[in-house]
Amino acid sequence: MTTTAPVTAIACHVLSVEALSPAISKVLLQPQQAVDYQPGQYLQLVLSAEDKRPFSIASIASQPQLELHIGTPAGDSWSSAALTHLKQQHAAALPVMAEIGLGLAQLRQDSQRPVILLAGGTGFSYVYAIAQALSAANASQPVFLYWGVRQQDALYYQPQIQQWATQGKKFSYIPVVQEPDNLWQGRSGLVHEAVLADFVSLEAYDIYIAGPFAMAGVAREAFAEQGAQRQHMYADAFAYI
Ligand SMILES: Cc1cc2nc3c(=O)[nH]c(=O)nc-3n(C[C@H](O)[C@H](O)[C@H](O)COP(=O)(O)OP(=O)(O)OC[C@H]3O[C@@H](n4cnc5c(N)ncnc54)[C@H](O)[C@@H]3O)c2cc1C
Repeated sequence: MTTTAPVTAIACHVLSVEALSPAISKVLLQPQQAVDYQPGQYLQLVLSAEDKRPFSIASIASQPQLELHIGTPAGDSWSSAALTHLKQQHAAALPVMAEIGLGLAQLRQDSQRPVILLAGGTGFSYVYAIAQALSAANASQPVFLYWGVRQQDALYYQPQIQQWATQGKKFSYIPVVQEPDNLWQGRSGLVHEAVLADFVSLEAYDIYIAGPFAMAGVAREAFAEQGAQRQHMYADAFAYI
């Protein structure tokens, strides 16, 4: 596990667990002491001393609560065990323990380079935090948020993001559905392929990636072939693949 510094687990009250879609839950945590973290970092939910599970923090540090998006697709036990723990502690009004502010793929706040945010599924949590931080900082560079999902009902924050895109001239939002139904009028296919189709060269861009490990690996190599500089591609998934 790659971390920026040793991090102590902090008690957090589970304020709410609500469904964003049939297979994705939004969790709000209230830390019991002050916490600091960078946009795009993650926390580890401590299930036991040997069992800690990482989740991207969808909120930014200026917000009082920690927001998580937890996907529990059919057949998954990795994140459903974490969600069950959160629900049980919520029902019992007991805190959970979390190590907060982990990872090295946080927003490079000093960079003026244009930004591509690439999310696969619940990897959206990570790019959402970065997009919020860029917006809060009134960042002047163009931002392109690509969000790939298997079916369009997994685009759980679509209205908010579309509103950003209509308000901000330099913010573009491109949802990409892998297996769309007949009603879908947007882009389809694999999300990283949409990026490859849209940019002749990726050399100038800071690229932030979160999603399935397989997607992160394929995107890194394909983007590098299209000019992206490896030192300007960021993903905590890279530490796992
Ligand atoms: C540091 C860290 C943080 C994490 N944070 C979270 C979190 O906040 N929430 C959470 O639920 N899990 C998290 N995980 C676990 C894991 O990353 C997620 O389970 C994973 O991103 C879930 O993807 P999905 O099922 O939503 O995407 P899927 O529905 O499987 O895929 C979404 C899209 O990704 C692309 N894609 C998928 N597979 C491929 C492929 N093989 N090749 C090319 N493109 C592909 C496609 O465009 C597809 O439509 C985290 C893991 C780590 C290590």
